[in-house]
Amino acid sequence: MIYLDNAATTPPDPAVLETFNKVYATFWANPHSLHRPGEQAEQLLEQARAQVTELLGGSGYRTLFTSGATESNNLAIKGVVEQYRARGNHLITTNSEHPSVEKVMQWLEGAGCVVTRLPVGPDGAVTPGQVEAALTHQTILVSTMWVNNETGAVNPISAIAGCLSAHQALYHVDGAQGIGKLPFSLAETPVDFLSFSAHKFFGLKGSGALILRERQQLPPQLLGGGQEFGLRSGTADVPRAAACAKALRLSFDGLAPKLANAGVLNDLLRKGLAGLPQIVINSPQTASPYILNGSVSGIKSETILHGLVGEAIYISTASACASKGTEPSPVILALTGDKERARNTIRISLSHLTTREDIEQFLDALARIMNKLG
Ligand code: PMP
Repeated sequence: MIYLDNAATTPPDPAVLETFNKVYATFWANPHSLHRPGEQAEQLLEQARAQVTELLGGSGYRTLFTSGATESNNLAIKGVVEQYRARGNHLITTNSEHPSVEKVMQWLEGAGCVVTRLPVGPDGAVTPGQVEAALTHQTILVSTMWVNNETGAVNPISAIAGCLSAHQALYHVDGAQGIGKLPFSLAETPVDFLSFSAHKFFGLKGSGALILRERQQLPPQLLGGGQEFGLRSGTADVPRAAACAKALRLSFDGLAPKLANAGVLNDLLRKGLAGLPQIVINSPQTASPYILNGSVSGIKSETILHGLVGEAIYISTASACASKGTEPSPVILALTGDKERARNTIRISLSHLTTREDIEQFLDALARIMNKLG
């Protein structure tokens, strides 16, 4: 099989599964229990928490384990609005966010908030200047993704964090498609909230985190026993936390060469696709090399997808979250302004396990399918 849908999810690294199984078999006690096994489980939980915070360069920050980026995004955005409503009701985001941010924004609009959606430019990103121009004394939160899940477009999160340093507005970044793939440090990019999911970098599904400043208070979305600093009740999942820390550590091993290799494969892919007249590439040159999006004309992208499935090659039509809809992709529409182009897209997403042969075989199969059906 050739798996080119790594932006949807990645397989768990065997070493991550091993950590999970080992920890579950041995340290299954409730980490909030006061007896010895409970204390040992708690120790492991805190070790995992400290490791994640440290790997992300987060001195002065803490890691809150969650079920993943969807939960982290909801917790941060709804939490900030609840906490700081007295300071203002204005939020700034972009017109290309993942549904786990965009739907929250829509919900908040229904609750009386005012949301500014900055339009992305030809590079699929917003600029710090756009953010600055949209700020008002009512703005309490700016939320932008780091790497776009459909196009790979990269927002300048360090510069945006910089331009917010003197403003009351807090900055939330949805890092789901960037963490574990691109270099990152909170020391250089001091955002207020960072969300991610471990399954995007060879960790487990249902596992992720929200990183936030140590003193940051947020009203919880889940009420109960007051676990995770009172921000997320429920018995902590120690094995999953340990597995998350392990996956993050592994993702940082050789991150630069892995990224460089993805760049080489992305170039190969771009060159190959440029040779097919029915395809136009949507991902900007500045995008993360792990994601490449293109629009197809004259043949339905689902037909291509199914043709490839016949050869055990797996790609995606849009993002996995949107691929079941028939509506044009709002992200491609925002980038290209072209409804037809936004209706018929393919997304190829790589990982450090993708090889040159994978790309060559994919291009070969794609050309054959296009010739036969196009
Ligand atoms: N944000 C982005 C940019 C994503 O790509 C995803 C996953 N598709 C999410 C948030 C949500 O992640 P999860 O489904 O793991 O909660």
